[in-house]
Amino acid sequence: MRFASLGSGSRGNATLIEHGATCVLLDCGFSARETERRLARLGKSGDELSAIVITHEHGDHINGVGALARKYDLPVWATAGTQAVDRLGRVDTLHSFSSHQAFALGDLQVQPFPVPHDAREPCQFVFSDGARRLGILTDVGCATAHIVEQLSGCDALMLECNHDAELLQNGQYPPSLKRRVGGNQGHLSNAQAEALLRRLETGNLKQLVAAHLSEKHNTPALARAALSAVMGCADDWVGVIDQDDGLDWREV
Ligand SMILES: [Zn+2]
Ligand SMILES: [Zn+2]
Repeated sequence: MRFASLGSGSRGNATLIEHGATCVLLDCGFSARETERRLARLGKSGDELSAIVITHEHGDHINGVGALARKYDLPVWATAGTQAVDRLGRVDTLHSFSSHQAFALGDLQVQPFPVPHDAREPCQFVFSDGARRLGILTDVGCATAHIVEQLSGCDALMLECNHDAELLQNGQYPPSLKRRVGGNQGHLSNAQAEALLRRLETGNLKQLVAAHLSEKHNTPALARAALSAVMGCADDWVGVIDQDDGLDWREV
């Protein structure tokens, strides 16, 4: 199994997870044209995708889903709550899944789990090829015991490090937005990501990347320092997904 990111942050998120003949696009927050450009950078084209899976209905995760699904005739998977918001436009093949029930997409096993975030029915995922597990967690306001259980023992983790709490507090956002981002249904700070990682079983962990960094209220160095403090590794062992450049393929 391998994964890559087309980019991550408030201006758009999209992740590729591939195993065997199956290549899943998790979220598509970029326009269809921009997504095609970023796919090409990773050696992929839209017609090589198997499906699009959606975490939740915020624009930075679904802006390009409808157009891409129509152009390449891709099935789209989303919870009933996400579908109820109806921001996808016409999608010919739309599947529902329970955020508590694993399902198969070709050669990949997909285990969703619900997360606290200000959307209708947001969830995040563990993808598995049957042997290895890749845990993905972004857009989550706080850690829960269920999240800890799901992400423990993963071989690779993509973990939200949205903001540094002090940079957010001292930043230019209006108070209401600061409360939303920093709240229990907002986004994980570096310190929250660090505390969550401390609660996980990490004996199998061989890949760790920080995702969904705020461009205004965080820096790659701060995110790396928070996560490497837990792992006792060199800072540069921790990957950081760039909003523009994404993340190149990594084998799990
Ligand atoms: Zn987001
Ligand atoms: Zn969100």
